[in-house]
Amino acid sequence: MEKKKTMPTSVITGGAGFLGSHLVDSLIARGHKVVAIDNLVTGSVDNIAHLAGNPQFKFIEQDVTEYLFLDMPVDYVWHFASPASPVDYLELPIQTLKVGSLGTHKALGLAMQKKARFLLASTSETYGDPLVHPQTEEYWGNVNAIGPRGCYDESKRFAEALTVAYHREHKVETRIVRIFNTYGPRMRLRDGRVVPAFISQALKNKPLTVFGKGEQTRSFCYCSDLIEGIYRLMMSETDHPVNIGNPQEQTILQFAHEIIKATGSRSRITYKPLPQDDPRQRQPDITRARTILKWEPRVSLDEGLARTIEYFRGKV
Ligand code: UDP
Repeated sequence: MEKKKTMPTSVITGGAGFLGSHLVDSLIARGHKVVAIDNLVTGSVDNIAHLAGNPQFKFIEQDVTEYLFLDMPVDYVWHFASPASPVDYLELPIQTLKVGSLGTHKALGLAMQKKARFLLASTSETYGDPLVHPQTEEYWGNVNAIGPRGCYDESKRFAEALTVAYHREHKVETRIVRIFNTYGPRMRLRDGRVVPAFISQALKNKPLTVFGKGEQTRSFCYCSDLIEGIYRLMMSETDHPVNIGNPQEQTILQFAHEIIKATGSRSRITYKPLPQDDPRQRQPDITRARTILKWEPRVSLDEGLARTIEYFRGKV
């Protein structure tokens, strides 16, 4: 008789957040049992409410900097918990540093105890205001530890160092994804990031707040593309960091015009001071993801924006 294949179990810290909750949905669709842990500081139960009563899903409201106890076998730990918008981590610098350090320590401890594979959601911010363009995984970065972004950048850099230490010392199977700017439904309307800021301003026909002259660049990846890349990374055999993002780069001023066009808004542009240490340019080099994971983004900016705008129309 064929042996019945058991469902793998995944634990997702930050599972009620923007990306965490999309990962929850995608793993449930792939047949995983999923335990989401979140303290709801920047996450929201609205993002997982549709899963209430689903026997494949369990939610634990907890701060992941505290000891994690789970009375079940675990196959995969996906560590996504952290404030991730510059406005959020400026307001919560100590919590940001704690979740990147103590929270990563607890999540790695859980993975070690359960003999589970661990994936760290790291960030393009590990490259700081980059002096290498586009950014390859070999680049060590240009980070101001004591600047306003230092709390986030250094907590993620520490998290990477701790992840690698657990791999070397305790032989935990680890994966590190460096996530570049990502957008889509379930971003918080007021999280301060450029996508929800511009879309909500445009939908209200209010001026779009471009910081500086809008000459700084970003490259935006749609959330479903990102989650697919991260899933492939977890299931791959590489313990090196891998950039996941969309290499299509544009200036923030160009992006503001895209949003005005896509929403059909009458908004104009207004200019505000450029925040300190705002990276001047950012574009992922995704050669490694293309080669190792056979992954690249599929959703065009037009299509991704249309889906995101649809979501925000119901919220503003
Ligand atoms: N930005 C802007 N207006 C806003 C919010 C952000 O011009 O209302 C700019 C910000 O200065 C940065 C870029 O948009 O250069 C992306 O900002 P975001 O906060 O989304 O993320 P970051 O990539 O800086 O982490």
